[in-house]
Amino acid sequence: MFFMNLTILSIIFSPITWVAFIWGACIGSFLNVCILRIPEKTFWKSARSACPSCGAGIPFYLNIPILSWFFLRGKTACCQQKLSLMYPVVELLTAVLFVMIYWKYPFFVQKSALWEVDYPNLLRALHGIIFVSILVICSFIDFKLMIIPDVISLPMIALTPLIAWLHPDLDMLTALVGAVAGGGILYAIAWAYWLIRKEVGMGMGDVKLLAGIGGWLGYQSIIPTVFYGSILGAGLGIAFMAVKRTLTLKSAIPFGPFLAIGAIIHLMMGSYLQELLLYLPGSGIDH
Ligand SMILES: [Zn+2]
Repeated sequence: MFFMNLTILSIIFSPITWVAFIWGACIGSFLNVCILRIPEKTFWKSARSACPSCGAGIPFYLNIPILSWFFLRGKTACCQQKLSLMYPVVELLTAVLFVMIYWKYPFFVQKSALWEVDYPNLLRALHGIIFVSILVICSFIDFKLMIIPDVISLPMIALTPLIAWLHPDLDMLTALVGAVAGGGILYAIAWAYWLIRKEVGMGMGDVKLLAGIGGWLGYQSIIPTVFYGSILGAGLGIAFMAVKRTLTLKSAIPFGPFLAIGAIIHLMMGSYLQELLLYLPGSGIDH
């Protein structure tokens, strides 16, 4: 896989890995604020952290990413209300994603005795962390409220030309075709579903999210993203129906989180998986 050519232990114990982890956990803490406040439209209200139940200020020592939730045993210190498991999950997830992005695009490289910055990898890593941060926000809002706010998806699409201009591996045409094709494919599916069933099967939020993903990763990412996302979504949906027998095929499952997981899988190990899936022994004519 992408980090197999490097000595795994030396990477795991590298201080930069831990810097990436801690930094990811802190950004994850900020993403929690976004997930909570963007749908409520209270994002700009107050810069200070406040208790979601009673509004009391949270002292800094109870605001440590991941750890605080466990210290407090999932309850707020001020009013003993339940503190959502979402907080440490988002922080841990973001931390792990940031570490994976650093492993994939190490931008500090040691040349003899000197450390140098690999600028193309620095750009790839910055693109990666902003991309996964947007997807984490969209996924958790969609999971909780079944919506993907336009204030996130539309700017994401609008930034496509800038991303194509800055990213070392993405050209303008690939990105723009990606945005149009990503939105277009899901829009066509949603429209076909409406023609057949006369009901809304897929939200426009998913359409805009895949347009953003296609723009940020290029058109080549669209089919793998939908493929991985659908397999995971269908698998989880079937498992869910098996456990809770009341659910039917028409039960609403947000598709946004699965598109996000599909896109992240493609970004992290797309080339490895495509090689694995397309060149399975015995499946190709040249084997
Ligand atoms: Zn409180």
